[in-house]
Amino acid sequence: MKNRIRYNRSMKLLLTTLHAKYVHSSLALPCLAAVSGRIDGITTKIIEGTVNEPADQLLRRITAEQADVVAFSCYIWNIGQTLRLVSDLKKIQPQTFVLLGGPEVSYNSHEILQNNHAVDSIILGEGEDTFRELISKLSQHGFCVEALHSIPSGIAFRTGDDIVVTSVGGAITDLDTIPSPFSAGLVDLKKPLVYFETSRGCPFSCAFCMSSIDTGVRSFSLERIKQDLILLMENCVSTVKLVDRTFNYDANRSNEIWDFILQHNRASRFHFEIAADLLTRENISLLKKVPAGTFRFEIGVQSGEEQTLAKVGRKTSLDKLFANVELLRKNTGVILHLDLVAGLPHENFAGFLASLQRLFAVQPHHIQVEPLKVLKGSPMEGIAREEGYAFSDYPPYKILATPYLTFSEINRIENISRLLDIFYNSGKFRTVLQAVAEQSELGDWFAAIACFIEENDISTHISQQDLYKLFRRFIKVFFIGRQKESLLDALCYDYCLSEYPSPGVLADVFGADGGKPEAARERTKTTDLVKSLAIAKDSKVRTYKRDFDCDYTCSPWRKNRTEILFVYISRAGQGLQVKTLTSGALQ
Ligand code: SF4
Repeated sequence: MKNRIRYNRSMKLLLTTLHAKYVHSSLALPCLAAVSGRIDGITTKIIEGTVNEPADQLLRRITAEQADVVAFSCYIWNIGQTLRLVSDLKKIQPQTFVLLGGPEVSYNSHEILQNNHAVDSIILGEGEDTFRELISKLSQHGFCVEALHSIPSGIAFRTGDDIVVTSVGGAITDLDTIPSPFSAGLVDLKKPLVYFETSRGCPFSCAFCMSSIDTGVRSFSLERIKQDLILLMENCVSTVKLVDRTFNYDANRSNEIWDFILQHNRASRFHFEIAADLLTRENISLLKKVPAGTFRFEIGVQSGEEQTLAKVGRKTSLDKLFANVELLRKNTGVILHLDLVAGLPHENFAGFLASLQRLFAVQPHHIQVEPLKVLKGSPMEGIAREEGYAFSDYPPYKILATPYLTFSEINRIENISRLLDIFYNSGKFRTVLQAVAEQSELGDWFAAIACFIEENDISTHISQQDLYKLFRRFIKVFFIGRQKESLLDALCYDYCLSEYPSPGVLADVFGADGGKPEAARERTKTTDLVKSLAIAKDSKVRTYKRDFDCDYTCSPWRKNRTEILFVYISRAGQGLQVKTLTSGALQ
């Protein structure tokens, strides 16, 4: 930053970030754009890319804007590409002022500035207030060091060969002072996922999480929250993902917002991160009224070991958490997503499997397992160094070994995580997994098949049909006799539920266990039955009938040989719908 550049015209500001996936969108950029939109003489544009986009293409898009200031929002998944992009940008447009912000640069700003000469300045901590001040000063005084020196906190910058790092900016106490990016029309409401926040900060202090550094939790006013929510619901946003760290930190506040959504929602779905142990009776009784599939709760369990949670300062009542998850599962239509972090203190491989088994016991819809990341500036960094953890120096700072887990055990846990996605979270193997769970612990089963695929070098990047073949292979390796037969039967039921078994396909997937074709004399009865179902006229309908060992269509399963008719209904623009009818209806 050698030259003092002044503006006789409006200053052009470009806000940008690289998402991990195209489907993601940014809330930070529209919030900053809403702030800069209130400063005279500023033109603001947002460009969003992904980490998978070719670097040259991103550079072309950014340089084409000829912006005076380019601000990058930095996270663990994009910091590497962002710094390379910044370096190239500065070579092409050296006069551009490059600004970084976000959690990945707030706590190591000195190191970033020292190693990346293309970066002019970094905003530290919560951005909007410092950003407003910085952009106002740059537009009034140009790019001069005096302007940066006059900002008392929340900023780091270089001045000649020196680097100045002030204290991290204080948390914004009145969040309503941040203009709404939604009412300013700065958020693309057509995106499949729209991010929204009702609060910032977290009341808890888990050592592995950057939110533990925040000072307390602050909420937007209920009036502001409702005003934004109405806008999202009236525009029928597909999915509203709340980024609040612990949405239900205040049970009454949560109920008021949930009730408001219930009253006004048209067709949107909502994702919340909640602490299940904080749910009250009033919360649960309200949640019973929410239509099935409208709410999704992400619940961090992290570990099923009290000693582990205590060491990382996580104040959770596990008994209350699991009891409430069971209440939600049995009494509401909320989709439940439970998280575990592998590699926390005191948890070895057997401990991890025990934690996983506790999750299986409450039958959530999704289970996510992530290996621990030792984030820069988090209290976990201190614990990891003290206890001798090995972790990568590069983002995402994943653990490599701990005093409790070897490198190969961490690899096995990652394979278990992938297998959970394929076989558990997909929902396509639900019946057979329930049958496995009746015969052995699911945690042990997943560990065994993770071990099996490692030893046999089996890829799981295969077609759906081949996944069923693979599961059949697992059953044949790990079970014998009657147990094996009943699992194959349940697997065949899952296959028939997932797709129409074209002629020969069951014999291909299941060998001799494939079903026999429906007898000609039965076809008339099936046709009559299908006619009795309420099926739209322009649908394509196919049927398949087969005998199973159980009636899997009821809960609990009726353990009698049952004939099940599958009706496959497809229509243009809609996914495959499968209805099942059992012998009662087939008589
Ligand atoms: S892990 Fe969750 S509960 Fe713990 S500090 Fe982070 S956001 Fe808060």
